[in-house]
Amino acid sequence: MLRTYRADLHIHTCLSPCAELDMTPARVVSRAIEEGLDIIAVTDHNTAENIQSAVKVNGEITVIPGMELTTAEEAHILALFPDMESVMRLQEITYNDLPLTGNKRILYEQVVVNEKDEVLRFNDRVLMDATGLGVKEAISIIHNLGGITVACHIDREAFSILTQLGFIHDSLEFDALEMSFRTDRERALKMFGIYERYPWITSSDAHHVSDIGRAATEFIMKEPSFEELVLALSGKEGREVRF
Ligand SMILES: [Zn+2]
Ligand SMILES: [Zn+2]
Repeated sequence: MLRTYRADLHIHTCLSPCAELDMTPARVVSRAIEEGLDIIAVTDHNTAENIQSAVKVNGEITVIPGMELTTAEEAHILALFPDMESVMRLQEITYNDLPLTGNKRILYEQVVVNEKDEVLRFNDRVLMDATGLGVKEAISIIHNLGGITVACHIDREAFSILTQLGFIHDSLEFDALEMSFRTDRERALKMFGIYERYPWITSSDAHHVSDIGRAATEFIMKEPSFEELVLALSGKEGREVRF
């Protein structure tokens, strides 16, 4: 039986330098449940170290392992995976490119927290830096690791594939394009109608607890799992994506 599941697939935690410190994995999960979401993805900038804690919180919600990767062109793209192992392999690749801060002062804390809100350690890499991966190479690595990839906030005026590259070339095999919470379907059709060949989603890109769920995508599918998300994005067997 197919039913509708609400998904917010782009949420940061306190490990992202730009996110609030109260965005602990436990708080993110509990707020997402309060907001009536069925699926979330934890997607910090170029890192995956807080995902396992969100998974361990084990509320009545599916947590998809993810990452918001910064490409060499400074475009943000989401990588979403079926398991922790694949996202940790992507992290090994991004960490090769991200310098340690050394003695440089970090403006914001990047905190790794367990499922009980206890601080485990501070991450001292420059997580916001661009990685050395070009968009095309990043997409291919994510697909080879078994993941899917989404061009982030294409309606925003910074760090999107459109602001960095000007257009989305046919050869870029994104599994979806993301609109920010500011853009509804009507506006999206006006501005990005030429990219209707891709499925569209919308997410909160939450950096504050109150942002969680301010935008969500409806997925019509069998169960709240990564495999079903993939089927819905390709419109297989009656499944669909509604934005
Ligand atoms: Zn972004
Ligand atoms: Zn983001």
